[in-house]
Amino acid sequence: MHNINLMRYFLIGDPVEHSLSPLIMNYLFRKYGINAIYHPARVIEDELMDILTSFREIGVRGFNVTMPLKTAILRFLDDLDDSAYTIKAVNTVKNIDEALVGYNTDWIGVLRSLETYRVGDIDTAAVLGAGGAAKASIYALSKISGKVYVLNRTYEKAIALKKKLRELDIEIVPLRYNINNLEMALNDAELVINATPIGMNKWESPIPSRLLREDLYVMDMVYRPLKTKLLNDALDAGARVIDGLWMLITQAAEAFKIWTGIYPDIYRLRRFVLGEIT
Ligand code: NAP
Repeated sequence: MHNINLMRYFLIGDPVEHSLSPLIMNYLFRKYGINAIYHPARVIEDELMDILTSFREIGVRGFNVTMPLKTAILRFLDDLDDSAYTIKAVNTVKNIDEALVGYNTDWIGVLRSLETYRVGDIDTAAVLGAGGAAKASIYALSKISGKVYVLNRTYEKAIALKKKLRELDIEIVPLRYNINNLEMALNDAELVINATPIGMNKWESPIPSRLLREDLYVMDMVYRPLKTKLLNDALDAGARVIDGLWMLITQAAEAFKIWTGIYPDIYRLRRFVLGEIT
C-alpha cells in the first residue's frame, strides 16, 4: 500500500554518496515520528533549475544543499533569511506555501558547537581558511567575539572575505597563512577554528604543536578522522577541543528545526552517529 502522506526531503550536491546527512535526518524523522524520508541526490550546477522545478511539482518539503551548490542556488530561491543573505550561501531550503526559502544553518552550527563547550564572550579568535566554512565561522564569531584573524593561503581571498562581511559587528584582520602570522594570531587569540581541509589525512595539522597551549579552545571543522592530528596535539597541550562532528550535528539539528519546528536532542543524536561511524 502506498504511503500517500509521506513527506520528501533531499540533499543535493556533488558528491553526496559519503554524506552523513541521510543517516542523521532519517534517524531524526523516525525518532520524532514524522512520516518523511530524506534522499541524497547527485546534482550539478547545470541541473539546478530543472531539479528545483521537479521539487516544486512534487511538493518537496525541504532540502539541504552541499558543495558545490551552496552559492549557485541563491538566484533560484524565492527568499533568503538574513544570515544566508549576508554569508551568500545556503545549506537548507524550506518549501513554505510553494515559495523556496533559503537558510544558512552552518553558522548556527558553529555557534551551538561553541556553546556546548561554554565558549561565551571572547575578545579575539583566529580562523584558518577563507572559504564557505570560514565565512560561517566568522558570522558565528561576530555574535561572541570582538576581533577575528583570518589566515588564508591565498591572501587575496582573506581580503575579499573581509569586504564581503564588512557589515558584521566584528573586526576582521586578514593575514597570509604562514608561520609568523600564525604565531602572532594565536598568541593573541583565545579560540582557533580550522576551516581548511588540512587534517583529513591523519598526519597533517594546520598548526605546529608548539603553538598550542592550555588556555586555547581549538575547534576543527574536519570530522573524518574525528580526532585529527590538530585535536590530538591540542589535547596533548592541555587545550580544550571541539571536533567537527559537533558542527555537523548542530547544523543538521537546526535544519531539522526549520523544517519541523523540533530542535532534537543533540547529545542523543551524536551518540547515534558515533555508534554508526566508529
Ligand atoms: P572551501 O570553500 O573549498 O575552502 C577551503 C579553504 O581551505 C580555502 O580557504 C583554502 O585556501 C584552504 N585550503 C585548502 N587546502 C589548503 C592547504 N593545503 N593549505 C592551506 N590552506 C588550504 O571549503 P569549505 O566548504 O570552507 O570547507 C573547509 C573544510 O571544512 C572542509 O574540510 C569541509 O569538509 C569542512 N566542513 C565541515 C563542516 C562540518 O559540519 N563539520 C561543515 C562545512 C565544512 P585557498 O583560498 O588558498 O584555496
